[in-house]
Amino acid sequence: MADFSSLKVGLSGAVIFKSENNKTFQEEIEGTWNAVIRKRQPCAFVRVASVKDVVNTVKFCVHNKLEMCVCAAKNSDFALADNAVVIDLSDLNNVDSKTVASCLVTPLGSYSQLGVAGFTLLGGTGFLSRSYGCAADNAVEFELVTASGDVIKANKKENADLFWGMKGCGSNFGVLTSITFQLHDIPDQVTGGSLYYSISQAPGVFKDIRDFIREKADNRISVYLIVHFETSGPQAICRFLFNGPTKEGNELLLELTNRTKPVDNKVKALPFDQFQTTGDWLVPRGWLYYSAKGSWVKDLTDDVLDIVFDAVNKAPESRTMACGFIYMPSLGGKLREMTDEDNAFPFKAAEYRVGAVVAAQDRDSYDVVKAWADGLDQKLSKYGIFPQGPEAEKVQKRLKELKIKYDPENVFHQNVPNIDPKKE
Ligand SMILES: Cc1cc2nc3c(=O)[nH]c(=O)nc-3n(C[C@H](O)[C@H](O)[C@H](O)COP(=O)(O)OP(=O)(O)OC[C@H]3O[C@@H](n4cnc5c(N)ncnc54)[C@H](O)[C@@H]3O)c2cc1C
Repeated sequence: MADFSSLKVGLSGAVIFKSENNKTFQEEIEGTWNAVIRKRQPCAFVRVASVKDVVNTVKFCVHNKLEMCVCAAKNSDFALADNAVVIDLSDLNNVDSKTVASCLVTPLGSYSQLGVAGFTLLGGTGFLSRSYGCAADNAVEFELVTASGDVIKANKKENADLFWGMKGCGSNFGVLTSITFQLHDIPDQVTGGSLYYSISQAPGVFKDIRDFIREKADNRISVYLIVHFETSGPQAICRFLFNGPTKEGNELLLELTNRTKPVDNKVKALPFDQFQTTGDWLVPRGWLYYSAKGSWVKDLTDDVLDIVFDAVNKAPESRTMACGFIYMPSLGGKLREMTDEDNAFPFKAAEYRVGAVVAAQDRDSYDVVKAWADGLDQKLSKYGIFPQGPEAEKVQKRLKELKIKYDPENVFHQNVPNIDPKKE
């Protein structure tokens, strides 16, 4: 193993080895959202506390040819890797939390515990994306540490091409140490929460909700349709947000509930930051999860919904599947207004995303629930958007040129989608 003493000198954060501090090492491992990856054995964690720490750690790993992975909130399956030095940025979390109190926001994900960097670098879609685009579309500047250990900024004027590539494929080019976002006004109370339906209502109701969104053509309305599997059986949920005045929100909600007749209505006026946490109960940390790839679909057509409800009927029993859900967030709106010149996010044309996340009761059941989620994925794939043709090739060429410039040896490869600089 490499000698870490030169890294430790001058590091304001901490290097954690299993041999020296097994308890803290284990806590780092157990911080992952997905328990499946907890069997991985990194060589060390480096809890960086400053940009200089990041520079020193990247240089140290590159110099010693050590595998690296980068994590913050540890929600992805790339948060840990065997034998890797894990650069943990969770202490670099200096977010200005006064912004929501001042009713200023930027798009965030459906789960309040997502890391801002990891979410944004992938594009990042959530309830406010129909109003304001991807999280990445709202970034005005990134600061990152590249594979050579340089600290650089990327914005519209400085490293403009990198700025573009960071918006969708950002974890390929370095370790992000800061993001500046453009913010948007939001009412002090939005109309948000969940509508609950029985599973027998769901096929008709989801079509009605899709049609309602189409008819209203109002980007301030956003939904996240879910079939949630519980021990008592599946249940249909529509997470709803109206990002506008309460009176208008109440009118829209009344129209929607009259049309769809939920068995329970938990939508109300509430501050946006409270709304943000209302879906967290769906994804408890530390279960044996499998997240299928999912499809970004041009529309939530009847055919797509038929495939979803056929899969619901064939879902594994609760003695194998501890919990799980099929998710269908509405997209479109501002996302669709973006072009390949604006960002490198490949799924701008999608109106919905459809996929399954499942958790197995135990490791023996894992293959059963995984096979079911993959089966759904395979059937949906025919409706998914796969960027191709000359435009998509142009984007890929541009991304590869950036990768060759900023990370020619692909030291940042524990990520998705990884751009291989050597691939023809
Ligand atoms: C329960 C759940 C709900 C989700 N909901 C949504 C959603 O609504 N919308 C959506 O768009 N996505 C969603 N995602 C996907 C999520 O945005 C990605 O998994 C994201 O990468 C998570 O980042 P993290 O910091 O939370 O996790 P981590 O595992 O810590 O990081 C994930 C990856 O991001 C990269 N990364 C993180 N920080 C940095 C950094 N500072 N510099 C460079 N690279 C970095 C690394 O490649 C790392 O492996 C969801 C995921 C989960 C598990």
